[in-house]
Amino acid sequence: MQPQIILLKEGTDSSQGKPQLISNINACAAVVDAIRTTLGPRGMDKLIVDSKGQATISNDGATILKQLDIVHPAAKTLVDIAKSQDAEVGDGTTTVVLLAGQFLHECKRLIEEGVHPHNIVRSFRKATRLAIEKINEISVKVNKQDPKELRSILEKCAGTSMNSKLIHQQKDFFAKMVVDAVMSLDSLLPLDMIGIKKVPGGSLEESLLIDGVAFKKTFSYAGFEMQPKRYDNPKIALLNIELELKAERDNAEIRVNNVEEYQKIVDTEWNILYEKLDLIHKSGAKVVLSKLPIGDVATQYFADRDMFCAGRVVEEDLKRTMKACGGAIMTTAHDLNDSVLGTCAKFEERQIGADRYNLFMGCPQAKTCTIVLRGGAEQFLEETDRSLHDAIMIVRRALRHDAVVAGGGAVELEVSKHLREYSRSIASKEQLFMAAFAKALEIIPRQLCDNAGFDSTTILNKLRARHAEADGKWYGVDVLNEDITDNFTACVWEPALVKINALTAASEAACLILSVDETIKSPRSSYDGPAPGGPMGRGRGRPM
Ligand code: ADP
Ligand code: MG
Repeated sequence: MQPQIILLKEGTDSSQGKPQLISNINACAAVVDAIRTTLGPRGMDKLIVDSKGQATISNDGATILKQLDIVHPAAKTLVDIAKSQDAEVGDGTTTVVLLAGQFLHECKRLIEEGVHPHNIVRSFRKATRLAIEKINEISVKVNKQDPKELRSILEKCAGTSMNSKLIHQQKDFFAKMVVDAVMSLDSLLPLDMIGIKKVPGGSLEESLLIDGVAFKKTFSYAGFEMQPKRYDNPKIALLNIELELKAERDNAEIRVNNVEEYQKIVDTEWNILYEKLDLIHKSGAKVVLSKLPIGDVATQYFADRDMFCAGRVVEEDLKRTMKACGGAIMTTAHDLNDSVLGTCAKFEERQIGADRYNLFMGCPQAKTCTIVLRGGAEQFLEETDRSLHDAIMIVRRALRHDAVVAGGGAVELEVSKHLREYSRSIASKEQLFMAAFAKALEIIPRQLCDNAGFDSTTILNKLRARHAEADGKWYGVDVLNEDITDNFTACVWEPALVKINALTAASEAACLILSVDETIKSPRSSYDGPAPGGPMGRGRGRPM
C-alpha cells in the first residue's frame, strides 16, 4: 500500500505544463487586445472610469494598464514592462506591450506543436541581441555641435511622440515649448525642475512657458493691493513661520483680574509679531514667502515698506523656489541673512487666465522652468500633461543618447528583414524561432495600418518589397495618404533608445512568461489578498 503524500494545503489549485503556458499566453493576449487600438497617430483613446467614478481619458499604454488593475499573475508582467518603459524612456509604452504580446502569439503556435520553451527562449535572446546591434548600426547620429540642427532634431522627436496624442494638432507649438523647457535645464536634465501648472479655460495655444518658477497667487489679506508686484533682483525670504496675530485664548486658558493685565497680554502678542516683522524687514528681503498664513497686520506692514508677501504657499512650490533661487526655508526670523535669502533676476505677479500668478524668472541656482497649460476640460488638461511628459522624456533621451531612427514601423521592418536573412543562415530548427521573432516585429506597422483603417496586407507587402531594395531602409507607413513613404525624410523620428528599450523589455517579458509552466495558487497566498486572520503572524507586536 502506498501512503498518500500531502504536499500542499487543501484547496490549493495548481495547474501546470503546456496547458498552463497556453493559458498564460492567452491572458496576455487579452491584455494586449485592450490597448492594441491606441497605437500610433490614428490610434484611439480609452476612457477609463475607476471605482470612485473618476474618468481618465488616455492614449498612454502605461496609464491605461495601471488603471485596469489586472490581477492575472502572468499578465501582470506586461503591466510591469509598460511601467518600466515609462520610467526608463517615457514613451513607447504601447509599443512594448504590443511587441511582447506578439512574441507570445508567435510562440503559441510553436508550443502547441510541442517545442520546448527553452529552445525558443534561447533563440529569442539571440535575436534580441542581433536586433539591437542592427538598430545601433542603422541609427543616425545627432550632431550636437550644431545648435540649429540639434534643435530641429529634438523638435521632430518631440513632435513624433505627440503625433498619437490628443494634442497632435498643436504639436508644433508644443514641440517648441518642450524643447525650450528641456534646453533651459542644466546638464543633468532633472525632470522635477520642469513644473507643469494646469489652468482650466482658454485655448491650448494660450499655454505658455515661463523661464523660472511660477505658482498661483495664494490667499491674501487687505493691504495686498498696495504691495508692489514687480521687482528686479529682489532678495527672497522663504519661511515656515506664521505671521498672524494669534488669538491665544483659543489655545490656552488665561486668568486675568484686571484690564491692565489683559492689555499686557495683547501688547505682548503684538510685540512678538512686530519683532518678527522687523527682523524680516531688516534682513533686506523684498519678497516674503511662507508656508504658513501671513495675516492682515503683516500684509499691511509689508505694504507700507514696499515689500511683497505671500502666505500659504504650497510646500512643493516653495521647495522649487528654494532650489531655483537659492536660500533656505527658515523656521525662525532671527537668523535671516544673505546666506539664507534667495534671489532671482525678476519677480512679477501676472494675470494668467482667471488667476493671478507669481513668477520668479532668471533664477541663479538651478535652471528651472514652468509650463502653464491652458485648455478646456479637466480630463483634457490631464491628458495634455501626460503627453507633454512623454515628449519631455523623449527630448531628454534624445539629448543624452544622440541617435535617432525613423518611426512608423520603418525600423521594425528593417530589423525584421535583417533577422529573417540571418535566420536563413542557420541550419538547425533555431531558424524557425528566429523567423517567428522577425515576423512578430511586423505587428507595429501592421497595427499602425489597422488603426488608421488601411488595408494592412497591401501596405505591408509594399513595405517588404521596398525594404528589400538598397535605399528602402527608412520606409514606413504613411498615415496621411494610405501609402508608404520614407519616414526619415518625412521627419517621423524617434530616439533609437526608445526602440532598443522596447525590444529588450518585450523580449524579456515574453521569455519570462515562456519559462513559467506552473502556477500554484494557494488559498492563503498573497495575491488573492490577505487571508482571513491577517497576513502571516504580523500585527501582534512581532517584527516583520
Ligand atoms: P507608444 O505608447 O508606444 O509611444 P504611440 O501611440 O505614441 O504609442 O504610437 C507610437 C507609434 O506611432 C510609433 O511606432 C511611431 O513610429 C508611430 N508614429 C508616430 N507618428 C507617426 C506618423 N506621423 N506616421 C507614422 N507613424 C507614426
Ligand atoms: Mg508615444
